[in-house]
Amino acid sequence: MTNILVTGGAGYIGSHACKALQAAGYTPVTYDNLSIGWQDAVKFGPFEQGDLTDRERLDQVFAAYQPAAVMHFAALSQVGDSIRSPETYWHNNVAGSLTLMQAAVHAGCRNFVFSSTCATYGDQDNVVLDEECAQHPINPYGASKRAIEDMLHGFEVAHDLHHVIFRYFNVAGADPEAEIGEFHKPETHLIPLMLDAIDGKRDALTVFGTDWDTPDGTCIRDYVHVMDLVDAHILGLKWLENDKPSRVFNLGTGSGFSVREVIDQSHAVTGRDVPVIDGPRRPGDCTRLVSGSTRAEAELGWKPKRSTMKQMITDAWRWHQTGHYDK
Ligand code: UDP
Repeated sequence: MTNILVTGGAGYIGSHACKALQAAGYTPVTYDNLSIGWQDAVKFGPFEQGDLTDRERLDQVFAAYQPAAVMHFAALSQVGDSIRSPETYWHNNVAGSLTLMQAAVHAGCRNFVFSSTCATYGDQDNVVLDEECAQHPINPYGASKRAIEDMLHGFEVAHDLHHVIFRYFNVAGADPEAEIGEFHKPETHLIPLMLDAIDGKRDALTVFGTDWDTPDGTCIRDYVHVMDLVDAHILGLKWLENDKPSRVFNLGTGSGFSVREVIDQSHAVTGRDVPVIDGPRRPGDCTRLVSGSTRAEAELGWKPKRSTMKQMITDAWRWHQTGHYDK
């Protein structure tokens, strides 16, 4: 079996990637410091606890498993936190990724799949973002991810470390078998917070701003089902296995949903009211982030299968109701 080192494999997206890797015949080796992730979510391969900035520990893990590739999910990803504490983001995301890339090169592992973000584009209103759009991040989180992309380009030239970079938009939903799902502490994401409000685990969902320049005044985002997202990663891995050139792909569906539209769909799926409070804008937010997925579809053959808002909320709700959130 081929080992793949999955950093952040105990987190939301990383754990779904491990499930998809196992289904595709790989052995996912999770490397995670459990600062955000959950050991219970590591169900599909071995677990190695460690920090991205710990070169010695990384060297041990690379030597023990000799992974054919790295899938690098581990990162801090809260825009607000990154504004309050940029140093934490440069240390963990940038210095951590640099250490990981150096360890990969040292171990002779030459294929690297990286989770980047649409936050690298910054606020470009009324544009459907494609991979060639200029990147002007407006917060340290986005800047940290752009810096890692830059490092990957340099490592390609200097050290033959080949990469596929995926720029995520908004990820939602859960494993349809509900073995794993989305769970953050503290939770900051729209859909899990909304489901908490629906079943009384919190008083209400606060809508962050109703005066944005959009048809209903709330922010618009492009949501992709987590299972579709991780499918793209398997295709990205195969792309590198087939010696295709390093490449950047946006992972979006091309359709945006406003916060109000997501709330309305949740009401329709669950049959329950969503208690809502209209609040002020959240610092660091953009008006509208919508991607085309033309390149991923044309070149990787990626086709989102579950990324309707109804399906994403249905799968998230099923997971939510398993009670995992109560642990
Ligand atoms: N949002 C909101 N209330 C919340 C959490 C999020 O109105 O309690 C909005 C947020 O402003 C954004 C959208 O929902 O427009 C998605 O936010 P999330 O934090 O899920 O993802 P992000 O877009 O920041 O990556």
